[in-house]
Amino acid sequence: MIHSELLTTLSGYWAGEFHQATTADTFDVVDPASGERLATLPRLGEVEAVAAIEAARVVLDVEPPLHQRADWLSRIASSLTEARDELARIITLENGKPLAESRGEVDYAAAFYLDAAKRVPQLKPHRLAEHPRDHVWEVHHRPAGIAGLITPWNFPLGMLAKKLAGAIAAGCPSVVKPAELTPLSCIAFFALLDRLGLPPGLVNLVFGDAPAIGQVLCRHPDVRVISFTGSTAVGKQLALQCAPHVKRISMELGGNAPFVVCADANLDAAVQHLMANKFRCAGQTCVCTNRVLVEQSIAATFAERVRDEAIRLSVGPGLDEGTQIGPLINRAGFDKVQRLVDDAVRKGARVMCGGATPGDTRFFAPMVLADVTADMACTHEELFGPVVAVSTFRTDDEAVQRANDTEYGLAAYVFCGDVARAKRMATRLRFGHVGINTAAGPTPEAPFGGMKQSGIGREGALEGIMEFVELQTIPTPA
Ligand code: NAP
Repeated sequence: MIHSELLTTLSGYWAGEFHQATTADTFDVVDPASGERLATLPRLGEVEAVAAIEAARVVLDVEPPLHQRADWLSRIASSLTEARDELARIITLENGKPLAESRGEVDYAAAFYLDAAKRVPQLKPHRLAEHPRDHVWEVHHRPAGIAGLITPWNFPLGMLAKKLAGAIAAGCPSVVKPAELTPLSCIAFFALLDRLGLPPGLVNLVFGDAPAIGQVLCRHPDVRVISFTGSTAVGKQLALQCAPHVKRISMELGGNAPFVVCADANLDAAVQHLMANKFRCAGQTCVCTNRVLVEQSIAATFAERVRDEAIRLSVGPGLDEGTQIGPLINRAGFDKVQRLVDDAVRKGARVMCGGATPGDTRFFAPMVLADVTADMACTHEELFGPVVAVSTFRTDDEAVQRANDTEYGLAAYVFCGDVARAKRMATRLRFGHVGINTAAGPTPEAPFGGMKQSGIGREGALEGIMEFVELQTIPTPA
């Protein structure tokens, strides 16, 4: 069982306090490294979601002043930073990622609140320079309404920060719904929020029966924004549920990132960036490389160099000193990786290193697969595991065509000695984020999001705040 001074009340939070559950239904949160139960939580549902929305309604009509929002955001960032080590421990225990990555996640989350605090002044109303129709025109940025924020398990605090920072900056109250696999980090975060003296109802938390909570959020007339990060399949369901109510939807969905390596690329840099990008969170991030496309003449050398690095990575529980690859999130995640590897091998892929140890369904040693071809399922589905799948291309046209041959369009990377050539490729790549000679991922200062079935809308920067803003124009006679 987990013990933490931030986890003294394991329940939902609304109207400025934690509420003891009335339901007898429960679910367990499990440490993916050991299989041990960390906590048993109440399975909250429709009743609690309605209560959280009612609490949020109380603050709905009061548009918080901009300086107040900036102050809240800065204080949230500071409280995250102060509790960094304990939050990181909780993330690692329930998610499995190495402790250093969890600390990085807390810093990443804090940076989103800080950045949003800095941008709040940009929401000041402004007057048009022109006077159309002989009127003075003011443009206001109104809070869109209650925001329903639904988040995944791979970055329990990072993904929430991208949404909650934008909602608070825009002046919207929120109802947060974290993933069933990793709710503890979020409960701990709410324990911190509780100490900040925010207006009761501004931030609310429910977890448990995801479809029931999702339906309430999508149907309730006062919830005007659904901001979701997770799988494309669930995102589509939520979009359908929101459509009859014409809600704003912001969707950060699945990815299938290509990593293109041209023959003239700096191979040291390409290998190092691939290692950092691919193996974060044991390969379970939406921006993790899913397909490595290497120019034919250097493919064998590149795959060998990646293998040489991969076999050196240390696999183990995230709390252990020196661990670089933690466990996969659960048995379903493990089975998916194994299924995609088995399919690839059956169709001719070659295992250069890595894989599971017989009898163990938690850890998966970093794998490099060579001779991957487009008919293999791993080139179309998210691997979500520590497997580098290498295939080859001969021309830039082929690289672009293969990279774009997916329903997803989140992140892509191009490594090339000729930056102009890489930029020409980038203009043709249908991905919301294209790194050139870098596999750096999202940052609070830049808008991030997907094209095609990877999503709608952006998170981070002013664009991320605008997802929660309704523009209102007020003309008055000049
Ligand atoms: P998921 O299964 O879609 O779950 C995401 C969230 O949706 C969880 O909180 C889940 O709750 C909830 N949910 C599930 N069914 C629901 C329903 N019917 N109604 C309302 N909510 C529902 O995704 P995941 O497995 O947690 O996350 C992995 C996926 O997220 C991958 O596809 C990854 O690429 C994507 N992702 C995308 C980004 C991005 O920025 N584009 C970032 C991170 C992850 P429960 O857990 O309680 O079921």
